[in-house]
Amino acid sequence: MNSLQGTFIVLDGPDGCGKSTQVRLLCEWLRNQGVTAVSYRDPGTTAIGEQIRDILLDPAHIDMGDNVEVLLYMAARAQLWKEKIGPDLTEGHCVVMDRWLTSTCAYQGWAGGFGIDKVIQIALSSLPRVWPDVVLILDVDPNTAAVRMKPEPDRMEQKGASYHAKVREGFLKLAQQHNNMPLIDASKDIQTVHRQVVEKVQSLLK
Ligand code: ADP
Ligand code: MG
Repeated sequence: MNSLQGTFIVLDGPDGCGKSTQVRLLCEWLRNQGVTAVSYRDPGTTAIGEQIRDILLDPAHIDMGDNVEVLLYMAARAQLWKEKIGPDLTEGHCVVMDRWLTSTCAYQGWAGGFGIDKVIQIALSSLPRVWPDVVLILDVDPNTAAVRMKPEPDRMEQKGASYHAKVREGFLKLAQQHNNMPLIDASKDIQTVHRQVVEKVQSLLK
């Protein structure tokens, strides 16, 4: 059986780095290898998760605290695990996620000042499994990311430039601290980034 079957893969990074694009390409590649791959977005996917996502991203919710953000993201993630990720992994499918806990670590934990360790503590008490087999961190400078982003920013995207600089710093810190969280240079063109993604998946999960 292909060694990628049953693995839990995450693509993470700031808005506009190309996560959704690369999740789609990676799933196509996996299926061409004969792997049964499914992909989900976090937060979201489930009925409950999509409603939580709307609450989190609504620009009207300007007063939301970082602690509330952490709890809502974790609640959406717990539901996604219950309905989709858990059963899929049990069945031996490869699960490819568009964002995961690393986002909460970089955004609320690091940029928001809540604390990465505290985020992880909450994850450990909320989720049956916290860490994926591999997290590919798509790194891109804020200017390149901004050019790629949609014209109407959501509540998270509306946080200022210094917040987003810290988000990038948070992701770089996580990559530095974990061997299974390689950085991908996401400033390159889509196919070049895809080749880097496949290379890292193969080398870390062979
Ligand atoms: P994310 O999900 O990280 O916000 P997307 O995959 O939705 O990013 O990409 C945002 C936009 O940028 C889309 O229009 C996409 O086609 C484009 N894009 C994605 N990757 C690249 C790339 N490597 N180079 C140029 N444009 C890209
Ligand atoms: Mg996306």
